[in-house]
Amino acid sequence: MTEIQPLVEMRGVHKNYGTLQVLSGIDLEMWPGDRLVVIGPSGGGKSTLLRIMMGLEDIRRGEIDLLGKRYITGHEQSGKTRIDSTLRKQVGMVFQHYTLFPHLTIISNLTLAAIKTRGMPKPAALDKGMQLLKRLGLESKAQSYPSQLSGGQKQRVAIARALMLDPRLMLFDEVTSALDPELVAEVEAVMLELAEQQMPMMLVTHDMWFAKNIASRVIFCAGGVVVEDGPPEQVLGDPVNPRTREFIERVF
Ligand code: ADP
Ligand code: MG
Repeated sequence: MTEIQPLVEMRGVHKNYGTLQVLSGIDLEMWPGDRLVVIGPSGGGKSTLLRIMMGLEDIRRGEIDLLGKRYITGHEQSGKTRIDSTLRKQVGMVFQHYTLFPHLTIISNLTLAAIKTRGMPKPAALDKGMQLLKRLGLESKAQSYPSQLSGGQKQRVAIARALMLDPRLMLFDEVTSALDPELVAEVEAVMLELAEQQMPMMLVTHDMWFAKNIASRVIFCAGGVVVEDGPPEQVLGDPVNPRTREFIERVF
């Protein structure tokens, strides 16, 4: 019998910015196909957690395994964090503010990293990029520049760009918070489609209705730790912890 392995395993992750302690021992496991929604008060370290998973931040203590292998190790004494660059390539991230290159066309935004950092032949990258744009209904925008697109379209391009690199895990940090309300649904639809295709994802959102729709699990983070962790019906619908309860009552 093959044993199912967690996709992500975090143990005792500690993070500080100077004297500001942001994460004080995060423990969590994610299983293949999990869609983990992270909720919690502003400034509680949600973005930091995702940035750590993307290999963008050092940690002071703790370790993270990805795909059953050691990915990130903090080392308090030396202050050096070890990050496995091969595993880092397995993770894709989309941020709140679109990070497209303004001087490049949409198709070039998609293919740049695949060609330059992954060594994908240009025709193959173009082909894959066009397929992704087609899938997201943005084929006609291939030769446009980011400034010619709506916010929702830009976020869909940002998702497509992450997908170009075949991530095994996708991270979404409040990707709809900067959008006009009428543009939110088109971006959420793309994430829901990825969820249907069993793409593992970790996402931060303030939209509790969306969280309820997409999550297989919800964690409530506050004070630098995971306060509550469970299925969406429980954490969003009937939280056990009083801090979670208070937060949910405020945001729903
Ligand atoms: P959240 O996403 O939950 O709102 P963040 O992870 O962005 O929280 O931030 C957690 C805390 O860390 C906040 O107090 C924030 O001001 C601080 N912080 C975030 N990034 C930095 C940084 N680069 N340097 C210093 N402090 C930071
Ligand atoms: Mg944030």
